Formats: sequence, C-alpha cells, structure tokens
Amino acid sequence: MSTEQDLFTLPQRYLDVQAAARDLAADCSDIAARADESDSIDPDVRKRLAASRLAEIVVPAAYGGRFDRVDSLAVTVVREALGAECAHLDSMFAMQGIGSYGIGVGGSEKLKEEWLPKVARLDAIAALGLTEPGVGSDLKALTTTVVERDGKLIVNGHKSFITNGGDADFYSILGREGDGYSLVLVPADTPGLRTERPHQIIAPHVLSDVVLDNVEVPVDNRIGEPGKGFALVLATLATFRVSVAGAAVGLAQAALDEAVAHARTREGFGVTLARLGSVPEHLAKCWMDIEMARSLTYRAAAASARDARANLHLSSMAKVAATEIAASVVDRSVQVAGRFGLVRGGKLERLYREARPMRIYEGSTEVILDSLAKQLVRDAG
Ligand SMILES: Cc1cc2nc3c(=O)[nH]c(=O)nc-3n(C[C@H](O)[C@H](O)[C@H](O)COP(=O)(O)OP(=O)(O)OC[C@H]3O[C@@H](n4cnc5c(N)ncnc54)[C@H](O)[C@@H]3O)c2cc1C
Repeated sequence: MSTEQDLFTLPQRYLDVQAAARDLAADCSDIAARADESDSIDPDVRKRLAASRLAEIVVPAAYGGRFDRVDSLAVTVVREALGAECAHLDSMFAMQGIGSYGIGVGGSEKLKEEWLPKVARLDAIAALGLTEPGVGSDLKALTTTVVERDGKLIVNGHKSFITNGGDADFYSILGREGDGYSLVLVPADTPGLRTERPHQIIAPHVLSDVVLDNVEVPVDNRIGEPGKGFALVLATLATFRVSVAGAAVGLAQAALDEAVAHARTREGFGVTLARLGSVPEHLAKCWMDIEMARSLTYRAAAASARDARANLHLSSMAKVAATEIAASVVDRSVQVAGRFGLVRGGKLERLYREARPMRIYEGSTEVILDSLAKQLVRDAG
C-alpha cells in the first residue's frame, strides 16, 4: 500500500533532475535579467544550458536523450526551477522539446538521427510554427499549404509569433495537405524561408514571423503520415502543456519570495510590513495558492508522464490554475512591495511582465476552459 511519503514525495530520479535544474538556475542568476530583456538567443544562457545537459530530458534516450521517452514530470520539475530564475532559460529549455517532439514520435529514422542528438546538445535550436497572422486558437483555420510535387514538398505560408524564430536551426511547420494537415521539418537555411521581427512583447521573448515562399524540402522531411500532422501537434501539447504550469509555479514562488523578503524588513506604523493591515493575509493567500497549484501540477505531470493524451484534462486544469494563480500572486507581491515592486529592471517587475503571456500561449485560459466544459458534459451523458 502507498504511504503518504510515496504519494507526495518525488521519486529520486526527479529529485536529481530538480537539483540539477536548481543548480543551473543559480548558475544563470548573474545573466538572467539581461537575457530576459533579449529578443534573440543569449549565447551564455545557451552555453550554460548545454553544459548542464538538461536538454537531454526533452529528447528520447535512443537519440541522445535522458529517458526512454520524454517525461512530462521531469520537464515540469525542471521548468519550475528555471522559471523561478530566468524566463529566457526556461523558454530555451522547453522549446527544444516542443519544437522537436513531433520528430521523435513521427519522424523517419533519418530525421531523428540527424536532428534529435543536436537538439539534446543545443547544437541545433528547435521551433514549432503553428500560429499565423490571422489564425491563433482556431488552428484548423490555418492557411499555410504543403504540396507534394516531383519528390519534393513545397511549403507556402506565413507563421507568426514563433518562439526562437530567427535563431532556430529548423522549424516544424504545420500546413494543410489535401484534406488534412501535415507537419514538415524546414531547415532554417532553406531557400525561400525568411524571418521578420514585426512584434516584441511586454516581456521580451525570442519571437519572429517565419515566411515560407515556395520552400522546397525532401519528401522525407514530412514528419509522420501525409495529412496526419495535427495528431503530432496534439501529442506535443499533451506532453508539454503541464510544464507551463511548472514554470508558472516557479515564477509565483519567486514573486512571493521577493514579497516576503521585503515585508520582513520594511517597517511602517511601528511594525514590519509583514504584520501590517492586509499584508499578512496577502502573503498567506499567495502561499496557499502556490501550494494548491504545485500539488495539482505535480499530479497532472505524473499522470501525463504515464499517458499524456488520456490525462490531457488534468494537464489543462493545471495549466489554467497555475498560470492564473501566478498572475494573482505576482500582482499581490507587487502590491506588498509598494513602489519598489514597480521599479524597471527589478525582479518583481520582470516577473509581473513574464506572468502575463502564460495565460495566452499553449492554450489560452478561455479556450482550455471551453474544451474542459465540453468534456465534462460529454462524459456525463
Ligand atoms: C510569448 C509567445 C510565444 C509564442 N510562441 C509560439 C510558437 O512558438 N509557435 C506558435 O505557433 N505560436 C506561438 N505563439 C502564439 C500563441 O500560440 C497564440 O497567441 C495563441 O494560440 C492564441 O492565439 P491568439 O493570440 O491569436 O488569440 P485568439 O485566438 O485571437 O484569442 C483572443 C482571445 O479570444 C479568446 N478565444 C479565442 N477562441 C475562443 C474560444 N473558442 N472560446 C473562448 N474564448 C476564445 C482567447 O482566449 C483570447 O482571450 C506564441 C505567443 C506568445 C504570446
């Protein structure tokens, strides 16, 4: 029979990964603020992530990775540690997996052998291109096309808000092919592919648009069966969605740590802030919210590690709960810090900006709640 200890303590292999991620986060603390203001890959963050060998976690063991298959709980635990210190580092780690997962599941042996070991070593930077200027949540409305002609795939389209765009070595691009959608690996140096950076967001991010103008790649660059690419994208989301919750829990904890440090030492009206008015209640609620979010996140990540598709509802709940909680925790933490929480370049101000996009990407809160409600009602019938 399971004891409480078994149920609520991470097994040793996850504790090892967590300790390594905390070491890496600490190692990057001197460059985190700089990297988080950058719209291109920070070379020092890349070097330190490569040296840690943690990116091996997002690649299957047969192709230079750590575990037999990508383990959602390991990814989540790592992102919790990295997200507390440096969003740029967290994004670089996660995108190596998100941009390459389809290859590991559906790619030919040749594609796997060519790209996955480089992804694990950070010798190649990965990206996933789904979103288009006119298409976001309603992904099935995408307009990028894939056509097979004379032994080649011809890709035409415009992808928007692509993480690692401009710095990636390859893009996994989703386009329409016949009545379905295909995922195609396009190396960044393929003629006809160009990147543009029309947007930057409130928390700077390596982001660009990717324009594909009659791009030609070998047929073997189609990842999986023709017309079956959507299933690979869903498999990617199912495996990685819960890891956004991990990063959000890490961010929330970092914000609360800042607020507590401030409240313990600042005095007003004859007491420390930690004992003044509603401040103690703010702090206690933040702590409670983080513990709730972490519990759900670990449970969902463990379930996802067993069977990601069957437990997508739990990953989705964890993603919504943790990102919404991170937003409210960081907001309350800024409130506790008063004007010092607003200072540009301060850690709280940075966390405040970084929390916001998490509720929009990889399934916005509203879109996830809508599909959870559909599942709830369907399963009740
Ligand atoms: C930092 C960042 C990094 C990103 N990286 C990538 C990347 O690497 N690759 C990539 O392909 N894309 C990427 N994106 C894009 C991201 O996936 C989209 O922003 C996301 O899919 C939402 O689409 P949208 O922004 O067009 O919003 P929309 O889909 O236009 O939604 C706008 C609003 O309407 C709501 N809404 C939409 N549909 C529904 C519905 N059915 N029910 C209820 N409410 C709804 C949404 O919740 C939201 O509040 C990134 C975005 C950001 C901010």
